[in-house]
Amino acid sequence: MAKFSELFATQQGRLEGLATISAPLRQPRAVLRTAEQGKGLEAEDAASLVAATRMQSWGAEIQAAANQVRARWAGKAVEFIIPVYLTSFCQNECLYCGYRQSNPIAERVRLSLEDFDKQLDLILSWGHRQIELVLSDDPDFGPDRVARYVAATRRKLDSLGGGMVALCSPVYRQEDYVRLREAGLDWVVEWQETYHRPHFDRWHFTGSPKRHFESRLDLWDSVLASGITKIGMGVLLGLYDFRHDVLAVIEHGNYLRRTYGIEPHALGIPRLKPARGVLASQKRNRFSVSDDDFRLVVSIYHLAFPASRLFFNTRESYDLNISLVAPGDLFTVDCETLPGAYLRRHLPGQFSTHDYPPRREVKATFEKRGLTVNYLADETPCGAEVAAPASETAIDQKRWMEQHAQMRARLQDWEASLEQLSTNASQTPERQAADASLREILEYFKNVLTTHCRQEESGMFPALRGDAELASKLAAFRAEHERFGVDLDKFERQMISYGLSKDPTVLLSLGARMIREMRTHLAAEEQLFKDR
Ligand code: SF4
Repeated sequence: MAKFSELFATQQGRLEGLATISAPLRQPRAVLRTAEQGKGLEAEDAASLVAATRMQSWGAEIQAAANQVRARWAGKAVEFIIPVYLTSFCQNECLYCGYRQSNPIAERVRLSLEDFDKQLDLILSWGHRQIELVLSDDPDFGPDRVARYVAATRRKLDSLGGGMVALCSPVYRQEDYVRLREAGLDWVVEWQETYHRPHFDRWHFTGSPKRHFESRLDLWDSVLASGITKIGMGVLLGLYDFRHDVLAVIEHGNYLRRTYGIEPHALGIPRLKPARGVLASQKRNRFSVSDDDFRLVVSIYHLAFPASRLFFNTRESYDLNISLVAPGDLFTVDCETLPGAYLRRHLPGQFSTHDYPPRREVKATFEKRGLTVNYLADETPCGAEVAAPASETAIDQKRWMEQHAQMRARLQDWEASLEQLSTNASQTPERQAADASLREILEYFKNVLTTHCRQEESGMFPALRGDAELASKLAAFRAEHERFGVDLDKFERQMISYGLSKDPTVLLSLGARMIREMRTHLAAEEQLFKDR
């Protein structure tokens, strides 16, 4: 039997063409009538619907048909799910991800089984019964170790009457999935990221194990052969033209349908969002997916796979998600993306997430719509509690002021080094001393600033109580912390370029701006704390 990667290689040109058609190949209404019978969509049909939205306002009609299909084919329950991160160490360099190996400001945590147990007890006490274990590509966290975490989750869920265990991990071998299934794994989540080969290569650095495009394409064949029949597939929307990627997901899903007679258990709809230290995620680009595009993707997936769950996540605002979620979908309510963060709360993780109302309130909203919620039991008391800011992240005001003073002194050194760079020829000892000093200052800020910002965000900001004005100031400080991380990364790259070209122009202007902004930031923070 041909592998999916072999079949896909022959279909790439066709999908590229379908993604760009300007007029429907079939009457959109005829496509919708067929889909309403629960027969799904071929890529050509989905392309016709996408093309229709280019010409006139078909969005509402497509969404109405999708809702009808879901109401008919997907039952009346929404499923809650909660991610639990196991490690944030990663050997890959996916340019869109906050956990990429070279991100200097990523928090790196490997969750011990003991801490995992504690955290699991806590989230089970909140009522969660569907757990998604998530991990980056950490060589110290292979499938054998993951199996122990799966088994621990399975044991605890079974002792409480059952539940589901999902896993989002690096791609493993078939025998690993067998072991994970035996440990109690129910379903596997994996995104292809993008199905467009040239862009897949661009987003994933040479040398990264994740760069194996074909092994991701063929993953589902191995998973299904292992005996796991529930799969969660999809793309990260925004890495390439979403039209192409959605058609490719449909093509892949239809292949699984035809070959194995299965429907995807879930379809992911993650959209590229800002992440700390990730330049590519900070700005809009030509592949950015608007809210209207996002709505269209949701409807098309609902029509293409009437019985599959769409996996709503907290990358999106609560209001947007709640307006789109349909019966049978998966809904993430509590979400921390750093290992162990449920015990510490609101530490920055893999990407930015939105705050959601409490889970019981979300449940009540669904119930008002006549939907039940699965995988959320009653709350029970639990020994493990959320730490009010964790001791290692707490910081007293005196130490905080000393750190600010130290940073100011280093900003002065930085300024002096830039000055030396601008006034001396490239081979002079002064300039070489300035180069060395800049490298040392960069290291200092990469280490100290990251820790300091984390301590502020988790140890100081939550202790401040105030109005909306205060909340917006703290949010602005957080955004500035994030920008400093990105700028330090940029500065480091510019140091490399400067090392090759010996032209310091960009380095000088970037450094001057960073120094200015950091000084303003330090002063604004101090003023705020003085006023409180
Ligand atoms: S997307 Fe996954 S593999 Fe890639 S850098 Fe992030 S955590 Fe690592």
